[in-house]
Amino acid sequence: MLGKLDAYEKSKTPLEFDGEELVMISAYGATPHKAEVSRVLGESKGAGVRAVKNLIAKNRAVEAFGASSSFKAPAAYLADAVVARVGPLLANIHSWDFDMWAVVDAVGDQRLAAKVLADEVLVKARDLAPGPYGAVVRTCVDAIVAGYEDVAYHNCLHGADCMQSLHATLAKSPKYEAALALDRADLESSTRLPCIRTAVDDDNDHTLLVVLLAALAHDVGHVGLTNAYLVETGHDFAVRYNDQSPLENYHVATALSIVEAKGFWDSFDAPGKRMGRLYWIECVLATDMAHHMAAMAQLDGLLRKEGAAGDAATPANHLAVVKAIVHACDISAPTKPVKTHLRWTDLVMEEFYAQAENGAGKECEIPNFKGSDLGHAEKELANGKAKPSVPPRGSVVLGKFQLGFIGFIRPLFAKIAAIPSVDFDAPLKNIDVVKNHWIAETEPKPADKLPAL
Ligand SMILES: [Zn+2]
Repeated sequence: MLGKLDAYEKSKTPLEFDGEELVMISAYGATPHKAEVSRVLGESKGAGVRAVKNLIAKNRAVEAFGASSSFKAPAAYLADAVVARVGPLLANIHSWDFDMWAVVDAVGDQRLAAKVLADEVLVKARDLAPGPYGAVVRTCVDAIVAGYEDVAYHNCLHGADCMQSLHATLAKSPKYEAALALDRADLESSTRLPCIRTAVDDDNDHTLLVVLLAALAHDVGHVGLTNAYLVETGHDFAVRYNDQSPLENYHVATALSIVEAKGFWDSFDAPGKRMGRLYWIECVLATDMAHHMAAMAQLDGLLRKEGAAGDAATPANHLAVVKAIVHACDISAPTKPVKTHLRWTDLVMEEFYAQAENGAGKECEIPNFKGSDLGHAEKELANGKAKPSVPPRGSVVLGKFQLGFIGFIRPLFAKIAAIPSVDFDAPLKNIDVVKNHWIAETEPKPADKLPAL
């Protein structure tokens, strides 16, 4: 691309970007630059190359042209006014009730907002990307965010939300968090070996970095369709992965090839990389709702074995607990404040509706509702049908749909909250508020009632 720009400078022939190049221009972060580049090109009527080069010089579009030698923090791409608006909002990043939508609205672009959130958690709050390694981590974040599709719900913001929720849970559970980030003295006495260490920072275990990045990337490349649909329609993912968690297998393989290509593991020793990949793979595969009941049974076993005196921080429990927490963070929308939950609800329903409407008559089950112990609300919703279908747009059934889902997932949050050294009170508090919201919504309004005789 830069060669093309230079050629233009010499020839002064009006430059035309082809579709692929424009996509590349907009790919980084994508839309502030897309808008800016389009505006510059549009205003200059084909002679705006110098202006585009100025953008490059200002590091505003440099990544878009693949010409960067160093990665800049997302804040470097934000206008000062946006930085001023976003800063105070990020102060609450450690809270389960963090209002990420306020950040998204302030930034004005989904991909850039996802990167701001990742930077805030991984670099600023946790300092998980020290020194030159920071550029590697930021490049991985950039590529992961770019790898998400523009679907209604399973996009980069959902990934960032899962990562922030995991961050907030660990921040509230210091004993468990410390167990995932042992220092050298602890490591030498730990039975959990090998740990995930890097050459650039071999004093610390990098499990936290790995699981937070895995959460960010857990749905990368999601196409807005459910596993059931992919299997039924013989989609490429289903064929490739033998109908076994086609989406989750695709997400984890895609994410791991992205970070492999970006050199994420280059400074890890072989056992560290092996363990890091294990944590990443296990955490993402655990997000398939088909494993929901098995995850609950595993937690039951853990709680029975360890009892009230047990501890998530026990080395043998590290992975099982973090997998359960990542799964819970993935389906945590009904455990957030009502305002946040309602925004996610609109988006997830939009994605379900789109699948149902594009299904060309194929049966479309409600996703994420399989299981043997369906709650009362779901049975009611199913209304005698073995496979409840997505309610029509605008249907008043939405409240019952949500209540069914809440009845289904609440036990998972309650079990995690019961694990010693994990603080999961905030989601449990919120889910009951959200439940009451939907109960009130589904109650007949006075106008709907029959007039008294
Ligand atoms: Zn997800």
